[in-house]
Amino acid sequence: MKGWCAVKFDIPAGARHILQTLAAAGHEAYLVGGCVRDLLRGVPPHDWDICTSALPEETERCFADRRVIETGLKHGTVTVVEEGEPYEITTYRTEGPYSDSRRPDFVCFVPNLEEDLARRDFTMNAIAMDLQGNLRDPYGSADDIKSRLIRCVGEPDQRFQEDGLRVMRALRFAAVFGYEIEERTARAVHENRAMLDRVAAERINTELCKLLVGQNAGEVLWQYPDVFCQFWPELGPLVTLEQNNPWHCWGGWEHTIRALEEAPADVTLRLAMLLHDIGKPACKSTDEKGIDHFYGHPAVSAQLADKMLRALKFDNKTRERVVLLVERHDVQLLPRSQVIRRWLNRLSPEAFFQLLDIKRADNMGQAPEKVRDRLAELDVIRAKAERILAERQCLTLKDLAVNGRDVIAAGVAPGPEVGQVLEGLLGQVLSGSIPNEREALMKSVGCQVPN
Ligand code: ATP
Ligand code: MG
Repeated sequence: MKGWCAVKFDIPAGARHILQTLAAAGHEAYLVGGCVRDLLRGVPPHDWDICTSALPEETERCFADRRVIETGLKHGTVTVVEEGEPYEITTYRTEGPYSDSRRPDFVCFVPNLEEDLARRDFTMNAIAMDLQGNLRDPYGSADDIKSRLIRCVGEPDQRFQEDGLRVMRALRFAAVFGYEIEERTARAVHENRAMLDRVAAERINTELCKLLVGQNAGEVLWQYPDVFCQFWPELGPLVTLEQNNPWHCWGGWEHTIRALEEAPADVTLRLAMLLHDIGKPACKSTDEKGIDHFYGHPAVSAQLADKMLRALKFDNKTRERVVLLVERHDVQLLPRSQVIRRWLNRLSPEAFFQLLDIKRADNMGQAPEKVRDRLAELDVIRAKAERILAERQCLTLKDLAVNGRDVIAAGVAPGPEVGQVLEGLLGQVLSGSIPNEREALMKSVGCQVPN
């Protein structure tokens, strides 16, 4: 044992009880992996994994009086529910290759902890701790965590070849924790990026989403474009895109990254930023003065984004919203209430505020002296939109002070015409030409009804 970890956060009673029960039955048992890493980082763990020398059936016997979930049994994992919380208890093991699933194809149980820790991906995740805070740290994990380093356990090339997902996990941890990837590991990440071809899209998706909202996402995108191009080759032409245009003091990739960093840490917004200019290379033209233009790029970007998000198996809701934001990222918004009301109606308030976030971030990634006025205008638009919502102004048919029955009572024949009249009224209310008041609206309907 090496060192003692001063635990800043309470180990939950459930985890304590499990470790004590296993020990009382004569087995070794430790907290392991992500939770120990997070304790050492001074961050509260979000789950508490336990490893033990007990075989799965021995573990089950220890918790015969508890709710036990056997789904991971084949891989040596018994899930015990303590105080409503599930805890994964895994027998010391090595593993066979990973295929598409989250779990290896087969595992072999091993008698000691060191061998179990050796199968784990990075040193920071290959550490165990007992209830007294004693660490089992054969791979220098605590030192690497202190130095904020991501380092493979063992030979980096071999480790990435065993499981290509580790390429993405390395980048995800670098982005989320702001850690540096150690030199040999970093080289192996680049060299083994093609291993991602064998990884299920869903698994890449999960890591990518976590990565993009990480504090260092921009730096990781900058240093490892080749890895992202491996699963999204459409990024390639953007990475090398030059833009000779007064609005752009940076190339396509640098602009994308700067804009992404400016966007709030939200998966939809970060994806929209990553893909907003993906169609630019295909739309590039250079005029006689040597200035580059990218006419029509938002529509092309939206099309490409849709294809890329489908390939990575994004859910429909995320995909559709990202595509909408990419498609609209370049629209001109005017700071006039009637225009803002129309956008709120067309996009929904949620999507409209996301569009404002996107536009702000996009501008922040452009030549600063050029965008000052645009940014100020976006602030005005946001304030006006907030006021429109706070005042609960009419934005949809639902908010209109008259309904279909009123329109029919005013003499419109029941049928599709009712809807058309209501839409017409909404249009007038949105544009501010009539107030959303019953009397005014009925009067307007009256004018439209033939005598
Ligand atoms: P998170 O904070 O996202 O939960 P984590 O490191 O705990 O990060 P998990 O997926 O919960 O990630 O995995 C638990 C532990 O299992 C890891 O800490 C690591 O030791 C090991 N592990 C997970 N995935 C792999 C992998 N692909 N290859 C090797 N070891 C892995
Ligand atoms: Mg975990």
